[in-house]
Amino acid sequence: MGDEIKPTVQEKKKTQLKGLTLEELKNFFTSIGKPRFRGEQIFNWLYYHLATDFDEMSNVPKVLRNELRDLCELQTLDYVASEVSPITGTKKYVFETKDKLKIESVIIPEVERTTLCVSTQVGCPLDCTFCATALMGYKRNLTPGEIFDQYLLAARDYGKDQITNIVYMGMGEPLLNYNSTVKSLKILAEDLNKSIGPKKITVSTAGIAPKIRELADTNLKVKLAFSLHSCFEDVRSKIMPINNKYNLKQNIEAVKYYARRTGTRITFEYVMLNEINDRDEDITALIALCSELPSKINIIPFNSLKHMEPQGFAAGLETTPLYRIDEFVEKLKDKNINVRVRDTQGDDISAACGQLAIKYSE
Ligand code: SAH
Repeated sequence: MGDEIKPTVQEKKKTQLKGLTLEELKNFFTSIGKPRFRGEQIFNWLYYHLATDFDEMSNVPKVLRNELRDLCELQTLDYVASEVSPITGTKKYVFETKDKLKIESVIIPEVERTTLCVSTQVGCPLDCTFCATALMGYKRNLTPGEIFDQYLLAARDYGKDQITNIVYMGMGEPLLNYNSTVKSLKILAEDLNKSIGPKKITVSTAGIAPKIRELADTNLKVKLAFSLHSCFEDVRSKIMPINNKYNLKQNIEAVKYYARRTGTRITFEYVMLNEINDRDEDITALIALCSELPSKINIIPFNSLKHMEPQGFAAGLETTPLYRIDEFVEKLKDKNINVRVRDTQGDDISAACGQLAIKYSE
């Protein structure tokens, strides 16, 4: 014994700058005895210019850049792999966190926009029966920096100007990682960061009612998508266990509050599950619900979970046949409901809605 190893300066834990909001960056510079305007400069480099190295920060003096390199870290994720669908051009990325966990993000090119879909958790604790992410289990929340760096790495690869919209619809439940989600939204929606405004950002939730209200009160005014999937409490509880904790009634009150408070229209997501939520009474209930608040419906044909080898109830799930989806949609349109069928983009590379999952061997 006796060979005690003293920590050297280099071993001291560095401050992770990525994920700090504008206010936090200014406070960081105060804490190291520098002027607060450096916070604004660094904000710009990190989140607007998407810098990955201090040497890119040309208007920051070299001495300060070197000092920052000793004190701070800049990146939270590493690129691992990507795959492009030859059919639709959908591009799936696999990124790795510093603690070696893998997450996925997807770029979805459409005619009038290109959307990046980001993850907020490694895995998901919600256990929705129809979702592949549930089958991989839950590992941990992502930090605000890790949420942002999915955008950074995708934008640096795909072209920043190409990405017009961001949806929080990847792995995980954004509102169960509320603080990181809100911080990352603040960074993206900050006035200094003109890349993507709040109108082009959508947060999707399975329904954490109190957090929907809290998000409304932040004044961020991003769009909200609510994963409805059934207008009936018993059916919804069966396919989405979270409905036992925050039921549909509480969630509908919360989304109404969100629409009122933010002046936005709610998107109801609706995965078509054969003989579960595609009956005539489901159409009637949807029409009644849509009359109560400004909303639109996104119909999503159910994407197979077969690549995850599901068991039990999940193994028997099937998508509603196409002719019935058409009929369902037409009946909604007849009542002037704003409805569209979302393309099942990327299911050939397991990158479509609800197919994101990493198979861990342990
Ligand atoms: N946890 C959030 C965001 C992630 S899921 C939420 O539940 O909203 C994004 C969307 O994909 C949700 O509407 C989800 O219900 C849907 N989805 C999940 N599994 C699916 C599948 N197998 N096929 C089609 N859509 C699915």
